Amino acid sequence: MKGISDLLSLPDARAERMTGAADDFGHIVGSRPLGVLAAHSADAIRELVAFAGPRGLPVSARGGGHALYGQGQAHGGYVVDTGRLNEVRCEPGDRTLSAGAGATWSDVVGTALAEGLAPPVIPDHLGTSLGGVLSTGGFGATSHRHGLVADWVRELDVVTGAGELLTCSRQRHPDLFDAVLAGLGQCALIVRATLQLLPAPAHVRRFRLYHAAPESYLTDQRWLCRDGRFSHVCGQVRPSVGGTWTCMIEAVAPHTPELPVDDDLLIGNLGHDRDTVEIEDLSYEEYLHRPDRDERLLRATGEWQRPHPWLSLLLPEDAAASFVPAVLADPDQQGLRTCGVVQLRPLTGRTLRAPLLRRPPDERLCLLTLMRTAPPTDPAAVRRLVSANRTVYERARAVGGVLHPVSALPMTPSDWHGHFGPAWQDLAHAKDRHDPYRILTRGYGLWP
Ligand SMILES: Cc1cc2nc3c(=O)[nH]c(=O)nc-3n(C[C@H](O)[C@H](O)[C@H](O)COP(=O)(O)OP(=O)(O)OC[C@H]3O[C@@H](n4cnc5c(N)ncnc54)[C@H](O)[C@@H]3O)c2cc1C
Repeated sequence: MKGISDLLSLPDARAERMTGAADDFGHIVGSRPLGVLAAHSADAIRELVAFAGPRGLPVSARGGGHALYGQGQAHGGYVVDTGRLNEVRCEPGDRTLSAGAGATWSDVVGTALAEGLAPPVIPDHLGTSLGGVLSTGGFGATSHRHGLVADWVRELDVVTGAGELLTCSRQRHPDLFDAVLAGLGQCALIVRATLQLLPAPAHVRRFRLYHAAPESYLTDQRWLCRDGRFSHVCGQVRPSVGGTWTCMIEAVAPHTPELPVDDDLLIGNLGHDRDTVEIEDLSYEEYLHRPDRDERLLRATGEWQRPHPWLSLLLPEDAAASFVPAVLADPDQQGLRTCGVVQLRPLTGRTLRAPLLRRPPDERLCLLTLMRTAPPTDPAAVRRLVSANRTVYERARAVGGVLHPVSALPMTPSDWHGHFGPAWQDLAHAKDRHDPYRILTRGYGLWP
């Protein structure tokens, strides 16, 4: 075997990669690793992990770098940058797509759409990596119908913490497969994934429907989930005049000149404000790239580079009607009015299949995400917002809510034990088996 230093980034690229690996989109916690592997093959990752394991040196993967609280950092160890593992191949005949873990969702979607196909669930932000999203589960605007991004994986190539390169699926090493999907990188690093695809619409009609009260918003959202009249449904709560909030459902249906949608049939019986409806026809690709404009704007204003103390929670829908207004009325959350977005995503319990994605037992669920920006020069304000996240998390737990681990929230091993509940034993067993040195993805702080 070559020396470990031969695997790591060359000096000219090293400084930049080390700086990147010491930070993430959250910009709240930061830690420089010992080195960064710009992985070009599964074997290189296997060699690094085999070196690090017996020495007890942490190893984490980094894809798009969108973690919020150091979950992909490797204090005193090595970061595997998966950016070069970005080959994407589509097999239109069997409606599958195979891609390296570092491929962005933009690459994945572009390749699939060229064949008239698309993954059934696509995350909103296409700059995230395939491996990063699968490690957290992955939600998109079709999740009310199709569950998680991870629920559509056919096969994975992974490097376990024991330094083994394995292929797993429902048939091969099923326990490892279940431990990796939404498994927070605890048992293995994903090298390649094969996804199931479905035919993609060429064009869609997008409706934006505004509600003054969360109750009528949630009633409509529930209808839309149940009767499936829209292929894509998501929502936002937006600040409105006089300190109030407006709820907006964004719903999408395939739409072509040959098969036009009937607007009245789609929205005629809903409870939104009729005067403010927005209707727009887009190509499906334009629709999928809808957040790009906001990203460009936030980069231009500098907000993209500021700290992001985000919090994401899965709530029983019955609790959301009172929980969401109470959170938004909280003085600690007033920054969301000027520097943030509140997302509400309807979910259907039975569609969420990956065993390690923890959720309330209810059938009708809401994913609430507080996406806010904090001032870059006020660390005390950032600390206050992270601590406010803890308060909201505790309140959510009291009404049956569950954390979505894509959050800026420090968690203790005991918190994680509570989070995983009945799945904890299986995860601990898989960890002992596949990551015996407990070196992988320590940034979540799952183990003492
Ligand atoms: C602007 C923005 C929009 C988002 N929109 C959505 C959305 O619509 N839907 C949704 O579900 N999520 C969304 N997220 C959350 C995001 O999908 C997750 O944070 C995801 O884990 C990011 O992956 P990444 O590769 O970009 O980040 P990274 O920071 O590189 O990785 C995130 C975590 O995944 C681990 N990881 C990365 N690659 C691998 C791998 N190959 N194998 C194992 N573990 C790995 C890292 O170690 C880290 O713990 C959004 C986040 C942001 C910041």
